[in-house]
Amino acid sequence: MTASLEYQAWVVREQDDGFAGQEATCSTADLPDHEVLVRVSHSSLNYKDALSASGNKGVTRSYPHTPGIDAAGDVVASSSEAIQPGQKVIVTGYDLGMNTAGGFGEYIRVPAGWCVPMPADWTAETAMIYGTAGLTAGLCVSKLLMAGADPGDGAVAVSGASGAVGSVAVEILATLGFEVVAISGKADRAEALKALGARDVQGRDVLNPEKKPLLKPAFAHGIDTVGGSPLAELLKQIRPGGSVACCGLVAGPQLETTVLPFILRGVNLLGVDSVEIPLANKQEVWQKLAGSWACPTTEGQARRIGRGELGSALAAFLKGESAGKIVLDHS
Ligand code: NDP
Repeated sequence: MTASLEYQAWVVREQDDGFAGQEATCSTADLPDHEVLVRVSHSSLNYKDALSASGNKGVTRSYPHTPGIDAAGDVVASSSEAIQPGQKVIVTGYDLGMNTAGGFGEYIRVPAGWCVPMPADWTAETAMIYGTAGLTAGLCVSKLLMAGADPGDGAVAVSGASGAVGSVAVEILATLGFEVVAISGKADRAEALKALGARDVQGRDVLNPEKKPLLKPAFAHGIDTVGGSPLAELLKQIRPGGSVACCGLVAGPQLETTVLPFILRGVNLLGVDSVEIPLANKQEVWQKLAGSWACPTTEGQARRIGRGELGSALAAFLKGESAGKIVLDHS
């Protein structure tokens, strides 16, 4: 039994005029009663953290709350044989940062079944440059490959390309030899997207709503991070036999489509969840990201922030203005 420790965290509270996060001193005695206590050195910023920090009850039911769906650091204490003190671990998804105090605090206590051992040669900071967004991008690519996608098939569209998931997806696909068309609403990110390996960068208007149920096929496959009507429009532009991996909803959770892309072109719509899937599936993708799917440009472009910058960085997510990967460094 470890004596309780005091630590710093970015805690969101409900106030008269909404929700706001600020630095607070917390105690590990108040963390949930799980098996593994982790000293978190780094976390990663995700759209879901912005929802939690803004009081979205679909993500976080009660406040005060410490967000952070990603965490990486050292195990301080463990009552599980599977995870040993001193081990470096990555924790992403499940309930972390939703209703379990998350990676925006210097300590978390979680079930052993949430902890992935850190890949060899990786630091906590490197793991958190990828974070849930990188894991999700990797899972999207895995789904496309499982459905038979091949670099020889032709262009692969990535929507929300400048975002956290989209930018990593662009780099992994380019590394694997795919011809990537990045679809982005940020003209000023075109060069950065090309540096990640995008062959072409197109504006969001290529996915503007059209009345026709099918359009000229422009892409062999797609990774959609935005959902809503852009996803419906992307499905209309996929070549026969192509696949679209879909993971996000920043443009809306509704999907209004006809069955025509599916029954006339045999298009596959592949759902991607990075949160509740078995730990072994996460571990497989982490190992790839630490190996042949590594994204050196994403790693080089990542922005490091401290807890004091969390408020403004999370607000940018909600406005669709966030770009690339942002890592929270607790030191
Ligand atoms: P980001 O905010 O970093 O990126 C989203 C990008 O989408 C933006 O940068 C922007 O890119 C584009 N965008 C934003 N608003 C709109 C809009 N209204 N219409 C069209 N495009 C828009 O978020 P993440 O990359 O972290 O996450 C993307 C989505 O994936 C979120 O919905 C998130 O909840 C989801 N997600 C799902 C996971 C899962 O397990 N299924 C795991 C992780 C994330 P641009 O300006 O380049 O167009």
